[in-house]
Amino acid sequence: MNARSDELRNALVAVMQQMEASGLNHGTAGNASARWGDKFLVTPSGIPAAQLTPDSIVEIDRSGAYEGDFRPTSEWRMHVGLLAGRPDINAVVHCHSQYATTLACANKPIPPLHYMTAVSGGPDIRVAPYALFGSEELASVVISTLEGRRACLMANHGQIALGRTPAEALMIASEVEVQASFYYGTLAIGGPVLLSNEQMNDVFSAFLSYGQKPKKEV
Ligand SMILES: [Zn+2]
Repeated sequence: MNARSDELRNALVAVMQQMEASGLNHGTAGNASARWGDKFLVTPSGIPAAQLTPDSIVEIDRSGAYEGDFRPTSEWRMHVGLLAGRPDINAVVHCHSQYATTLACANKPIPPLHYMTAVSGGPDIRVAPYALFGSEELASVVISTLEGRRACLMANHGQIALGRTPAEALMIASEVEVQASFYYGTLAIGGPVLLSNEQMNDVFSAFLSYGQKPKKEV
């Protein structure tokens, strides 16, 4: 373990503890991962967030071979497959948050009902087809559903989000949960009024110039 690995291990522990504290995740559900050179760091199997330490984070390679005494999350295939195939991201967060999972259990994608639906990287938030937890098939359907996207629901299971850092992946997972709660709420009052393709395209253009930018040099 070296300094950079320590930093990433700490970030993964922090993400799991923040998910628990914010109610996004509970118990031993949910997991997180990050790229570590040509290997990967993933959360261990079956350890509640409160008991996680940087040392319990597992270093694993593409084949599933891992270092140390802790077994990796049962979803390591999904994490490793995403990190290996997506050079645009470095971290993955998966959880069973309440509203996202409610919609996932109804197999309902989230339509463009709010401009922040675009946090998924597209105008809607897709649902990956159901497959057994931890299976190669689940990894495969999630990877293909996430093509060109940063987040999706997982049918009858939960949600997953991708980021450049563990903190960014968590931020996206949190926003997916908010969007899911909005959709759930509008379904109770007659359904949402959706934004048009043109309105969502304007959102993507506006995102490109949103936030803090370096000042122009004079
Ligand atoms: Zn899960």
